[in-house]
This record gives sequence, C-alpha cells and structure tokens, in this order.
Amino acid sequence: MKVNANYAKLANSYLFADISRRVADFQKANPAADIIRMGIGDVTLPLCPSVIGALRQAVDEMSVKETFRGYGPEQGYSFLREAIQGYYQERGVALELDEIFVGDGGKSDISNILDLFALDNTVAVPDPVYPVYADTNVMAGRKIIYMNADETNGFLPMPGPDMKADIFYLCSPNNPTGAAYDREQLKVWVDFAASQKALILYDAAYEIFIDRPEIPRSIFEIPGARDTAIEFCSFSKTAGFTGVRCGYTIVPKNLVYDELSLNKMWSRRQTTKFNGVSYISQKAAAAVFTPAGMLQIKETIAYYKENALVIARALDELGIVFFGGYCSPYIWLKCPRGMESWDFFDFLLRGAHIVGTPGGGFGVNGKYFFRLSAFNTRENTAAAMERLKKLLA
Ligand code: PLP
Repeated sequence: MKVNANYAKLANSYLFADISRRVADFQKANPAADIIRMGIGDVTLPLCPSVIGALRQAVDEMSVKETFRGYGPEQGYSFLREAIQGYYQERGVALELDEIFVGDGGKSDISNILDLFALDNTVAVPDPVYPVYADTNVMAGRKIIYMNADETNGFLPMPGPDMKADIFYLCSPNNPTGAAYDREQLKVWVDFAASQKALILYDAAYEIFIDRPEIPRSIFEIPGARDTAIEFCSFSKTAGFTGVRCGYTIVPKNLVYDELSLNKMWSRRQTTKFNGVSYISQKAAAAVFTPAGMLQIKETIAYYKENALVIARALDELGIVFFGGYCSPYIWLKCPRGMESWDFFDFLLRGAHIVGTPGGGFGVNGKYFFRLSAFNTRENTAAAMERLKKLLA
C-alpha cells in the first residue's frame, strides 16, 4: 500500500487553529476581556423567512408518503436549475439548463472539478487567495505558479506574456482581499485565456455583494467567456447557507478540449461520484430566487455591507491603506506602523481585544496585510472600530 505522497508536500494549515489557540490563551489569561471576533469568514445572520418557509414545507413533504423524495437527479432538481437560469438571464446571460450543475457548495465543486484535468497541467493561482485552489492541486501533484496580487495591481493580477499556465484561478470579489475585477479587466483575462487555449476557473462565491455596473457578477457577462471559463457559485455567502449546503457550477457546452466536452465529462463525473444535494436544501435554495427571497437576502447583504462601510470609514480616518469592502464582506488593510500580519494580530488582540485574520495565512503577499470581516453585528463592528481608533491614536 502506498499513500498519496503529495499530501506530505502540503504546507500545514495552522492559520485558523493558530488563531483559535492564541485567542484561547489570551482569554484564559484575561477572562474579563470582551473579545470581538472579526476574523471569521462565516455568516452571522440567520436564514431569511422565505428560505425558512421553504425548508419547513420541504420537511413536511418528506413526511408524507405521496410527496416523499429519495434520490434526486445528480445534477440538481430542474426547479432549482430553472431558477438559477432565470437569475443569469436577468443579467443577459443565457445558459442552457444542462450547463447548470447543483452541488453541495463551492468548496466541493472547486476541488472535484480537478478530476477532469490531466496531472501535467500547470495551474496559476493568485497570491494571496482562498487556500483551496492551491492545496487541492498540491494534493493532486500539479505544478502551481503564483500570480502576484499586491498593492501595485490593486490585488488584481492581470495576465502577462510570462504567465504560462493551462488553468487560471480567478476569484472576484476576492477572498481575502475584497478586490473585484471590472468588465475591462475580465475581458483581458477572457481574451488571454482564449489565445492560450487555457481554462479559467472563476469563483463567484461573493457575487451578491456587487452592486456596481462596471463590475460583472458573472464571468459569462463577458463576451467569449463561454469558450474559456467554468464558474462556481454558492448560496453560502449569498443566503447564509454555510450550514445548509448548496451551490452550483456552470460548465458551458462550448468547452471542448481534445475533442472532449468538459460539460459531458463533469456530468459523467457527478453522476458517478455524487448523489445530489438534498431535496430540502434545494427547495431552500430555490426560495432565494423568489421576489420575496431576493429582497430578504439583499437586506441581509446590505447589513453586512454597511458594516464594511463602518470599517472603511474608521480606516480612512486613521489613514490606513485598505482594499475591498465596497463589494465584498472583507476589508484587506495594510498593517499600520510597518507591522507584519501576525504581529499586528497580537497587537490588536492585546491592545483592543479584536480578532482578525493575518494576511500571511493567505499567501506570501499577505505578510504585511490583515483581513477584517464584516460578518458581525453592527454594534460589534462599531465598537471594534472605536477600540481600533483609540489603540492607534
Ligand atoms: N470560494 C471562496 C472564495 C470562499 O471564500 C468560500 C468560503 O469561504 C468558498 C468558495 C466555499 O464556500 P462553500 O463551500 O460554503 O460554498
């Protein structure tokens, strides 16, 4: 028996474990400290009433012989795929129903899609970024190159002549930097990928936070993207489904490499290795796209965005450079006084009892940066910013 030795090449991901340990140690030594946690990437507000109503109804259906459901279609129930199709159509993006695949969230699909690609492909991953893109490719043994995201490019790497890869990961709005590509920048990416016969894996997990016309919410709003991109999206941040689990992946039929259709391959992969998302979760997800559901989730998103604004205003007042926030729940700030991100973490915890996420945990380029999350209450967000102002006064 031989193990997959690639696992030994993974950098140990101590980030969130390290944070928890440092916070627990601090709390033990300072039991009275009222710690405000702004490090989490998880949502904090409950599911909206439309989703709760759909969940209740689906549970009732499952309790009656006539409406009980067992295995569903592996690609998702048509009621949900039609709702997703309508959501894209509103933005002028025409998708065929069998280009939409319902899954149990972004992370699984982003990882599982790698089944479709040869091991000798090179993948290009932004630095810093959501760690799953790199780790899943390390596990598979693919070569990874990193695309520098830093202050000079607003944390939005663009293609260059020296960027030689077969698969490019883009995440917009980005986790952790909150930076988002505009239409022109994405067009450059789409044209570049087409010229290289490369593939873009586009993560749109935070698209619901975008409300500026110059920033596309889907890569398929860009002409030509159907020939060169797969898009992943999730109800996790859109509608608070981090614990419910549901997402979707768009694989256009235009994607044909070596005479093999990625759409057909993904369908084959899913029908073989996946047995679908629960009827209950899919019913809940479909409720997101009803007029009432959409209004309700947008209220929740507006609440988080107002928190982001509270953070942004405080940083502006303090003269701290930051990115993101305007169409994302994340604010990516440059650590003040030239501190490294872990030093700033300790400084903030000890001096203001605030927990954030050190940028170094997301990549080399995060060494002097720090992520604050707007997933919190308004009261906590405002209180944390007052504490920060006092600390840095
Ligand atoms: N993509 C990005 C950029 C994320 O930040 C996350 C979660 O934090 C995900 C995907 C995965 O979310 P889920 O698996 O809950 O859909």
